[in-house]
Amino acid sequence: MSKLTLQNIHIRYSNNAVVHAVSLTVEDGQIGCLLGPSGCGKTTLLRAIAGFESVTQGSITLNGQLISDHNTHLPPEKRTIGMVFQDYALFPHLNIADNITFGIRKQSSQDKARRVAELLELVNLPGYAKRYPHELSGGQQQRIALARALAPRPRLLLLDEPFGSQDVELREMLAREVRDILKREGMTAILVTHDQHEAFAMADEIGVLQQGRLQQWDTGYNLYHKPANAFVAGFIGQGVLLPGIVLNHNTVATALGNVHGDVPESCQPECPVSVLIRPDDLRLVADSPHPATVISRGFRGAEYLYGLALNDGSQLLALTPSHQAHPIGASVCIELDLQHLVILPTLTSY
Ligand code: ADP
Ligand code: MG
Repeated sequence: MSKLTLQNIHIRYSNNAVVHAVSLTVEDGQIGCLLGPSGCGKTTLLRAIAGFESVTQGSITLNGQLISDHNTHLPPEKRTIGMVFQDYALFPHLNIADNITFGIRKQSSQDKARRVAELLELVNLPGYAKRYPHELSGGQQQRIALARALAPRPRLLLLDEPFGSQDVELREMLAREVRDILKREGMTAILVTHDQHEAFAMADEIGVLQQGRLQQWDTGYNLYHKPANAFVAGFIGQGVLLPGIVLNHNTVATALGNVHGDVPESCQPECPVSVLIRPDDLRLVADSPHPATVISRGFRGAEYLYGLALNDGSQLLALTPSHQAHPIGASVCIELDLQHLVILPTLTSY
């Protein structure tokens, strides 16, 4: 069993505070993810969990054991935490078996051989024990790096941008593959990435970080459909904020008519708000009270992503099946099909 809890974590480099009040929990066997733009503090947080940075405030506990707070610091080698990095750095002069057993080299040859066979089976590279790293593809090397990190049976696995050096098209597939492996092992893990598709493919829960602050810790579905604030709404997926006026506790008037759903209590009637409209919330229909003009069109294979302008000048994005083709300049009619009403107080823009 390993449950990781961060409570009100603050981290600073000399006078520079880079992580502020981060709290989160990853349950046993779950895969969490820290997602955010470059420089937001992801690696710093991961290094603090591994024990390479100390915290200035707050506490980190692993399976009930306090491993870090302002006056406790369990050294990294005593934490039984495994790490996988972007530059997975297999030892080029060691064969795959010796790479995998590097962290357990003091065990008997028999135990090591058994663990290598088990792990090669797990990462789906049986028969590769005697090969050398340069004989493997990048993706295969990354799977060996994963096997090496798992060999000592860590309580927790940390992965820092592990697919960063792979082709973009490959990353999502690798993320799914690694997820399967970790789930088969029942591993508790944290992935760090700036790539939301990777996060969605691999993690059970995702935390969006902005400038060292955790904005929301949630499922990928909720981050997309129920973002907590304008930063998350802008960072995850695509969307446009349409101005609206609150009419009552469950109605907002917009240029596309009245929309319904829970209006936050802080937004009273008459309050100006922004309504988040995702490209998949809009349909192009033969007739509706809401005409629009096509101002851009991007082919996405199965779909077109249209940029649309309403008569009042406000702009929207719509995703439609690609056999529904409309040229730029065409007049279309739109209909809102909102499954979740996301309302953000106005004065936010992204
Ligand atoms: P990320 O992994 O999200 O890209 P980092 O955790 O590496 O972000 O960095 C967060 C912030 O801390 C950045 O502003 C970075 O410049 C700063 N930083 C990172 N490492 C150090 C360090 N060793 N000393 C001083 N500042 C650092
Ligand atoms: Mg980093």
